[in-house]
Amino acid sequence: MRRPLVMGNWKMHGSRASVGQLLDALIRPEQESAAEVVVCPAFVHLQQAVDVCEPSSIAVGAQDCSHMRSGAYTGEVSAGMLVDLGCRWVILGHSERRQYHAESDGLVAAKLAAALAAGLRVVLCVGETQEEREAGEAQLVVASQLHAALAEQASLTDIVIAYEPVWAIGTGLTATPEQAQQMHAFIRKELVQCEGVIPERVRLLYGGSVKAANASALFGQQDIDGALVGGASLDAEEFRQIIAAAG
Ligand code: PGA
Repeated sequence: MRRPLVMGNWKMHGSRASVGQLLDALIRPEQESAAEVVVCPAFVHLQQAVDVCEPSSIAVGAQDCSHMRSGAYTGEVSAGMLVDLGCRWVILGHSERRQYHAESDGLVAAKLAAALAAGLRVVLCVGETQEEREAGEAQLVVASQLHAALAEQASLTDIVIAYEPVWAIGTGLTATPEQAQQMHAFIRKELVQCEGVIPERVRLLYGGSVKAANASALFGQQDIDGALVGGASLDAEEFRQIIAAAG
């Protein structure tokens, strides 16, 4: 009952030309898949992606948004602007935002509220660092990120959770399917604490060095409902194989 979701996070990569080629390769011909597919290019390539993907079933998402609705916030992009552009999704709380832009749990929660209010669907990222895992604190960290972001949410209908262990992002080190499943099962159990939420209905993605070679084993796990894919989503053929593995 949970539709698989495969999302490509293109981070700060590409040019108009390379993004155009990548999009073309993904939609022509469009692959039959049971999975929902979303691509998240950089802000400046969003309009291009929305225009190219419009006739396809691929949706477009942003990698971040402001927690403010509008006003004198130089450099910021609001959730409403993204909706106006044709974006349907936004990634929030990515570890690279937490790490390089000092995004706190409080800010992530405010962004989440702003995104939902504007009508976006949100992929909320949580995950521990290598040191936190070695200290035996992985579940503690993930639970605290999760509850800080979701505390004020009455419904998780438009929220997907992505478990992205920081030590696995862009490192080639993937969590084993068992490690990922263990954390996903834990997250689902934690969701029981969110009032009015049916944990079995919430989609949980794994992210961190997902590639064609490990996707099937990850998707085979009971509580893994798809993936948030970075590096491997920049290669159309590889990304297509991951989509195929999901559905
Ligand atoms: P990666 O990135 O697949 O390159 O490890 C995943 C992510 O940061 O979402």
